Amino acid sequence: MKIQLLPSSIDSTGQCSPEQRLTCFVVDDHVAIDAGSLGIGITDHQRSTIRDVIITHPHIDHVASLPIFIDDLFSSLKQPVKIYATQDVIDILERDLFNWALYPRFSELSNDYGRVLEYVQVFPNQEFSVGHLKATAIPVSHSVPTVGLIISDSTSTIAFSSDTAKTDNFWTAVNSEKSIDALFIESSFPNSMTQLAEASYHLTPQSLLEELAKLERQNLDILAVHIKPTFREEVIEELKALNMPNLRVMKPGIVYEF
Ligand SMILES: [Zn+2]
Ligand SMILES: [Zn+2]
Repeated sequence: MKIQLLPSSIDSTGQCSPEQRLTCFVVDDHVAIDAGSLGIGITDHQRSTIRDVIITHPHIDHVASLPIFIDDLFSSLKQPVKIYATQDVIDILERDLFNWALYPRFSELSNDYGRVLEYVQVFPNQEFSVGHLKATAIPVSHSVPTVGLIISDSTSTIAFSSDTAKTDNFWTAVNSEKSIDALFIESSFPNSMTQLAEASYHLTPQSLLEELAKLERQNLDILAVHIKPTFREEVIEELKALNMPNLRVMKPGIVYEF
């Protein structure tokens, strides 16, 4: 399985910079997990192949350019873009994003070939098919309804939770899998900002370490994501100080293969 964190910051020369301001992961050029930079960070090839988008939660850093992605494709789509989300999340997207005020309600619109957007409701802890993958959404602990994911193809399985505070559900689900090749997990704030991290339902390197103590498996790659750009260097230093050889920081634009 190939997974890429899309770039979401460019410097003044137009180059991709390492800060993650928006969240969007592309799996095998076909499936997107969240859509923060989906409308702006993909190649033309990916724009022609991605039709399945899982939305973990409706925060703007995770859906910011979803309307732009669909808008770009509007006249040429021969099949709808499918958005996979829990009903809570679908309701918020319809009420607060695709509400005719912020952007058109694409779920009510068609082009010459048919519908342009279709929602696929997913249910907590129940496996669903998304493109060529199987996925299970696991509710995690965040300030709005949010899921982590376990995603498999025929050969590998990854576990993914971006935004979450301390949680048990997710680790129980990860521990019950036969095998996990890689874990993607957030580490938003430095340890000095534990209070803000807790208030906004995020992790620090220290609370990540406490969460990883719930992980009953070794030998998997752990990639830290969702590091707040302002505190990036500090968080990276604190992650290094955890002294975990299998833990690294995920870099945008790079294709990781598991
Ligand atoms: Zn969030
Ligand atoms: Zn976020």
